[in-house]
Amino acid sequence: MEKLYLIVGSQDLYGEETLKEVARDADTMAEFLNGKLCDLVRVTPMPTVRNADEAEDVFLRVAADKECVGVIVWMHTFSPAKMWIRGLQMLKKPMLHLHTQANEKLPYETIDMDFMNLNQSAHGDREFGFICTRLNVKRQVAAGYYRHNAVTEKIRAFAEVAVALNFSKRMKVAMFGSNMRDVAVTDGDRVESEIRYGWNVNYYGIGDLAEIACSVSKSEIDAKMKEYEKKYDFATDDMHAVREQARYQIALERFVERERVSAFTDNFQDLHGLKQLPGLAVQDIMSKGIGFGAEGDYKTAALMAVLCKMAEKRKGATAFVEDYTYDLTSGDEKELASHMLEVSPTFAATKPKIEVHPLGIGGKEPPARLVFDGIEGDAVAVSMVDMGTHFRLVCAKIKLVKQTRLMPKLPVARIMWTLVPDFKTGAAAWIYAGGAHHAVVSTALNTDDIKLFASLTDTELVIIDENTRI
Ligand code: MN
Repeated sequence: MEKLYLIVGSQDLYGEETLKEVARDADTMAEFLNGKLCDLVRVTPMPTVRNADEAEDVFLRVAADKECVGVIVWMHTFSPAKMWIRGLQMLKKPMLHLHTQANEKLPYETIDMDFMNLNQSAHGDREFGFICTRLNVKRQVAAGYYRHNAVTEKIRAFAEVAVALNFSKRMKVAMFGSNMRDVAVTDGDRVESEIRYGWNVNYYGIGDLAEIACSVSKSEIDAKMKEYEKKYDFATDDMHAVREQARYQIALERFVERERVSAFTDNFQDLHGLKQLPGLAVQDIMSKGIGFGAEGDYKTAALMAVLCKMAEKRKGATAFVEDYTYDLTSGDEKELASHMLEVSPTFAATKPKIEVHPLGIGGKEPPARLVFDGIEGDAVAVSMVDMGTHFRLVCAKIKLVKQTRLMPKLPVARIMWTLVPDFKTGAAAWIYAGGAHHAVVSTALNTDDIKLFASLTDTELVIIDENTRI
């Protein structure tokens, strides 16, 4: 299981008894945090750090342990911060600076200088915070008594991001074909993506997938059809079309497993060897947390996989979607988001229907797809764009709303949302920021999660929320 190292700082000045107490308190804290985070990470207390050599040693251990996804650091006593410089210069993993105490309340009746010397994070954590800022160490600071819910929740959110970043660092992304011809925003610097986020993005011919699809057996397709029957309503008689999608999904799953990829893209302009654009196949596979980006959008595909990892232990939906069209009724503006086919059924408010309809573009057989109305609730829409010199994340708070009227002739799944703080501001801000027409929408994550991801990866971030003014 992945680990967070708990690193507690002190110094030699206070004597053996004080240091023993520091170590005991660190163990107690680790035990408490393990009770709260045991489904996610193991919090492992390290020996108390007293000097520069020990600081170097502990951060060497952090670097060498592949299972260690980040560190929680706390100064129980004062700890002169020049001793942390050499160690911190080696830190390449996420840090949470936990600004807390072993005690919640002051023992007013008994407090003396020994107590003050033992419990002085107000002093020691400021010294440590300065050197982190001076060294430009990206970190999360959580202040408050560590057993309080608000603090524990912040630590948990940090752990989720740390686990997701560790996953991101080793992630492989497959592009079937390139990105859609002439489209700007889905393109990007794949070398920089790998340097900054770890995404190893590689091209494959769609023929590679077509070849696997040819080898899928009838009985495998029968089994996949049974899965579909359990989850979805069949609103078509065209079983040939549905079975074709089952074949693609089996091929995709086999490919994902074989190549150990966590996200993939396809492109309707490059479907050689496939009879249909993968619709139902991609929708169902997305619901399992595999990242997807349409039209060769590798950035959104990879971002979806990372955000799904981050949200793995939470309730809610996280998936790729495209900004499509608006209802511009004054004061009641809404956005209708969807795609040609590929909308994840995790967004479904009711049991999705499998339908088969012709597709206007691509010149292929009518593909089977899931059709449904979307869920309601608070969400974020997150888009990653390549500015040439750096990546930028645009994160907008949105509110998913009920579809106000039926759209009986719309043959695709959709979700609807309102913008924050209002339509005119939210939409204009997104356009000014250069946000894409593809995004990852999540009802499980919030702007704080995205801020932390951006901060720990040193990515420029534009937040659009209730405080936004143009
Ligand atoms: Mn698109």
